[in-house]
Amino acid sequence: MTEEFPALYVVPTPLGHLGDISQRAIDVLRQVSWVAAEDTRHSAPLLRHYGCNARLLAAHQHNEEGAAQQVIGHLAAGESVALVVDAGTPAVSDPGARLVSRVRAAGYRVIPLPGPCAAVVALSAAGLSEAHFLFYGFLPAKAGQRAEVLRGLANLPYALVFYEAPHRIVDTVAALAAVLQPTRTLVLARELTKLFESVHSCALGDAHDWLLADANRQRGEFVLLVSAAPAVDNDADGERVLKLLLTDGLSVSQASRLAHAITGAGKHALYQQALRLKG
Ligand code: SAM
Repeated sequence: MTEEFPALYVVPTPLGHLGDISQRAIDVLRQVSWVAAEDTRHSAPLLRHYGCNARLLAAHQHNEEGAAQQVIGHLAAGESVALVVDAGTPAVSDPGARLVSRVRAAGYRVIPLPGPCAAVVALSAAGLSEAHFLFYGFLPAKAGQRAEVLRGLANLPYALVFYEAPHRIVDTVAALAAVLQPTRTLVLARELTKLFESVHSCALGDAHDWLLADANRQRGEFVLLVSAAPAVDNDADGERVLKLLLTDGLSVSQASRLAHAITGAGKHALYQQALRLKG
């Protein structure tokens, strides 16, 4: 496929291993006139390594609107731009979304390239069998807010995917264990594609001790993956509540209606069962 110019190319870069970049990404980086980078000093040596001699402009969290106007100006002048972040895919727990949205609104093509993303790399090696996952990214740093977010996620039937930095890993794992069931599986994917890469899987309730047993296990960048909340057996729950209500003297219709409201078990089945239990 021949590339289209001028356009804004969204270009994922390696998480660590310099070999993890596509040929297409290298070709684009060599052809664009500008690279909008989250941190120009960080990206400059990486871009040189791939033979990219484009000029750099800063596009980070605090100047995204201004950077978008700069990028639109270059596109208007017929010059293509590549958007990169420090590592991985722009706009995934990183700046980029606002810039992309402004550029598209200004009528220019935004062309995404596939490439490294820590969440996807971790999922591929986590061995969790859930068909669905929820990517959350970074939890709030404050304990109260973090616990509140986790309570909201606790019963979802999806694997949960978080990003975490080394200085918060111990606290975050403790917070996960305090709110989610300790029997759920936690996968700690650390330093992916780097020298000390490790993927460790254990019961959530055992993870805190495992981390504390060796300070090296707390170093580096982490993706945390938690298996889905165990399915609630509504029918078994319904029967248990129904029996309690009938024993307390409620009528068949009252007990089955309340048991349905409390547990979500089927109303008709509960009514039939209540009749059987009474009769
Ligand atoms: N945009 C990036 C992506 O596509 O994955 C994510 C950027 S976010 C600012 C940085 C976080 O991504 C880290 O704190 C960590 O949670 C995760 N991460 C990045 N590189 C990683 C790696 N090599 N191993 C494990 N996690 C990594």
